[in-house]
Amino acid sequence: MKKNHMHRGIVLAGMISLFLFVSGCGFMQAYQEIQFFAMDTLMQVELSGKKSDIEQIRKIVEDLEDDVSVTDVQSELYQINHRTVSAIELSKPIARLLNEELAITETTNGALNPALYPISCAWGFTTDHKRVPSAEELAALLPKTDWRQIQLSNQNLTLPDGMELDFGATAKGFASDLCADYLREQGIKHALLNFGGNTYTIGTNKKGEYWKIGIRDPWDETAQGMIGVLESTNEAVITSGSYERYFEQDGVRYHHIMDGTTGLPVRTGLVSVTIVCESGVKADGLSTALFVMGLDQASNYWRQYKGFEAIFVTEDGKQYYTEGLENRYHPTQGQKAEVIRL
Ligand code: AMP
Ligand code: MG
Repeated sequence: MKKNHMHRGIVLAGMISLFLFVSGCGFMQAYQEIQFFAMDTLMQVELSGKKSDIEQIRKIVEDLEDDVSVTDVQSELYQINHRTVSAIELSKPIARLLNEELAITETTNGALNPALYPISCAWGFTTDHKRVPSAEELAALLPKTDWRQIQLSNQNLTLPDGMELDFGATAKGFASDLCADYLREQGIKHALLNFGGNTYTIGTNKKGEYWKIGIRDPWDETAQGMIGVLESTNEAVITSGSYERYFEQDGVRYHHIMDGTTGLPVRTGLVSVTIVCESGVKADGLSTALFVMGLDQASNYWRQYKGFEAIFVTEDGKQYYTEGLENRYHPTQGQKAEVIRL
């Protein structure tokens, strides 16, 4: 596959990019940039605004990370997973996150399942001890992952014994929603949030153009190549890919996106799914869920529910994108691409 390298002015979705926006001639005075590590990834933010705005973004992300860490004994999620009673009162942000995630869980019939944490643990994706669990081990864990038993009413959560949650599929998208809410309240007109390749665009770049988001080439191990560029404003652009986290054993590759019906990494012929829509948590949740569904089912989901656009990349190196992107998504020259229509 042809490798295409990142161009100036384009930020890649689906990767951790060390790219800094071209410094320009500074016609917009207060242009702020920051990079920091949080949620296991490099976060990059640029915006035109006050220094305190960018510091607030960092605080919003770090506060959320403190709430949703599965390993930090102080986190709200740790308290949920190590509860001694079945009913728990959630904080407002976590109740909102779980409520929004469960809405996607229902429409995707559990393709997105926040209760798969015991399965991810068994594969060692939450630690550095990755391993292939036995069929018996998975069979014993699957009954603990029945998302239909999650009861959430306002901030009151009730979970059956043994169930454990994980927001790995939605937390970065949710972080971008919280940040975008703040930036809009502050009247910020130009901002780009890049949370480890999960991007959110506000307004335009400082030249007054739509932000240009590169879609990562899943086969380029330098993580610099792109298969296309999306022009974007006021929306999340979020990719799930099997190349993001995986290990190999006996020549087989095992990645981190799980099929909740089998407890195995899903194999549906997709290597990445990018979702474009106004809500970060929806884009993040759907990128995972539609990856699980595979191209045909995912295309039908899009036809049925609408309200978002998508770019799919299949194992045979072809890309498919929904017709709403036709005027603003530009596959890299030489790429095999097909438009999905209603
Ligand atoms: P993403 O990179 O957004 O697709 O999210 C992947 C992460 O979500 C994994 O590292 C797991 O923590 C979690 N996860 C894996 N499979 C699923 C699934 N089917 N539903 C919900 N979360 C999942
Ligand atoms: Mg996701």
